[in-house]
Amino acid sequence: MITVRGLRKRFGDLEVLKGVDCEIRKGEVISLIGPSGTGKSVFLRCLNLLERPTSGEILIGGQPLLDPATDVPALRRRMGMVFQHFNLYAHLSVLGNITLGPVHLLGREPAVAAARARELLALVGLAHKADAYPDQLSGGPKQRVAIARCLAMDPEIILFDEPTSALDPTMVSEVLAVIRNLARDGMTMVIVTHEMAFAEAISTRVFYMDGGEIHEEGPPAVIFGAPRRPLTQAFIRRIRRLTFQITDDAYDLYALNGEIERFGARHVLPPKTIEDLLSLVEELLALQPSRADVRLELAYAERDGRVEVVCSARGAPLDVLAPGSAEDDLAVRLVRGRTEEVRYAREGERNVSTLLVRAAR
Ligand code: ADP
Ligand code: MG
Repeated sequence: MITVRGLRKRFGDLEVLKGVDCEIRKGEVISLIGPSGTGKSVFLRCLNLLERPTSGEILIGGQPLLDPATDVPALRRRMGMVFQHFNLYAHLSVLGNITLGPVHLLGREPAVAAARARELLALVGLAHKADAYPDQLSGGPKQRVAIARCLAMDPEIILFDEPTSALDPTMVSEVLAVIRNLARDGMTMVIVTHEMAFAEAISTRVFYMDGGEIHEEGPPAVIFGAPRRPLTQAFIRRIRRLTFQITDDAYDLYALNGEIERFGARHVLPPKTIEDLLSLVEELLALQPSRADVRLELAYAERDGRVEVVCSARGAPLDVLAPGSAEDDLAVRLVRGRTEEVRYAREGERNVSTLLVRAAR
């Protein structure tokens, strides 16, 4: 469906895409992952000519997109795009947003377009919001409207650019569920995302982008489970972990909680598990005799559905989670009650507690 060869894009002196090659077949769901600033958005924007590539070739169903003789608007209409920030028209109702393209670009009868829009709203679970205005909706529903609007143009492929990054963590899953249904129905999609559990579950292939090229690609089990190239390995290791360093009592608990919530959202952890992690970490920190040098690390092991919490604190030997160890034995019991397993180790001058929390599914 799409063939890309030697795609390059430069902005002045900055060469962002340095020769991207790939092939996307009909019905594939491609997740595009990689560090920020590596050109994922630019690549998507080149695919539907929101950016003009500097050189290279893009074939859509065999037709060269960059050939001056090509009817670009027609080719572009075959591709839908969903953005991080929804890009809905504030002055139009939900229905108005969805029918605008079909009426003005595809020449549909307004009544026909409206009937189709209502079907699509039902598909994304928003049949009752046809007459609402974007400002009356929160992020999750807004993004579902944006997806319905995109579907109204009958695209053959949909390009998603971080569709859940601007959402409150509580609204990520409703949008992912809509995308998952599209995948099930066989829609061809390219999705730039940081939701790794989601990417692993729904993709047919994963492209890891780094240094302006597709550095490694493969089935999700390989890219997430056993990537071959060092850059991919380092990236996968990094995104699976959350680390937080505390240097004094005035640490920012709210910032830490925010990071834990984002970590949970990234791995699509259930709200109950995120709640457990938040209180667990707070109790664990409160139990430390000193917060002068405490390192916290959270890692999610997809295979066995457990979150590993490692708390490493510099100080005299002490297992704060040993029963009867602390004045606040209730806190110890609260922490232990939320964990499946607790281990203690002494590493150099540090006390290291490792806790395993089963993700409630
Ligand atoms: P990603 O989506 O992977 O985070 P982007 O594709 O947004 O990264 O950006 C890649 C690089 O291209 C960044 O360094 C960014 O600053 C640069 N860039 C993107 N768009 C433009 C533009 N219109 N003009 C100049 N530089 C740009
Ligand atoms: Mg981007």
